[in-house]
Amino acid sequence: MTPLPVLLLNLTANHYDMQPVVHPIVGYICYAAYTRLSDGNKPEAEPTIVAVFAATLPDLIDQPLWLLGITSVGRRFAHSLFGTAFFIGIVALLARRYGRRDLGVAFAIGYLSHVAADIPWHVLAGDYNELGFLLWPVTEMPAYSGVKVVGTVGGVEVTTLWLEAVIFVVGVVLWWADDRPGLDLLARSLSRIRTD
Ligand SMILES: [Zn+2]
Repeated sequence: MTPLPVLLLNLTANHYDMQPVVHPIVGYICYAAYTRLSDGNKPEAEPTIVAVFAATLPDLIDQPLWLLGITSVGRRFAHSLFGTAFFIGIVALLARRYGRRDLGVAFAIGYLSHVAADIPWHVLAGDYNELGFLLWPVTEMPAYSGVKVVGTVGGVEVTTLWLEAVIFVVGVVLWWADDRPGLDLLARSLSRIRTD
């Protein structure tokens, strides 16, 4: 078992390739692109919440196991294509059963956006062996080599964190411009819990 200080350090250290906080934003961008392409509308509240949650889910499942020292790396079953197919399949069945195909689609887009967003930094850095998480347990996932440097501008090293910051801002601005779908519904649900 990992001692508490190491656990806390792990929480703040840069062991991630994409920062967990950027994933829900990427999920939103992908879902908003889908609704525009499919019916030309802005995203609705319920599927937005499902897509954003699904985009966070692989880390919510795999990271605690790693932080607790149960697995050696923060990407395991939930990040592999086998786990991806498993979770998307289960939710698709449930969505069909309850006549909410739209939520099944939102979940699939959010989840796939997470796995897809975990790929490019390794490719950019040429660390192709780190893509082993995709077919785990058939292929191994080595320990992270940390934040990648993508180039230097005016003597300053530009890392993938910079790119993530740009994606984060663009996504939040888009969500805001889309009238913040999901925010009202969350606020209403929270106030209902409080008054109950
Ligand atoms: Zn991840």
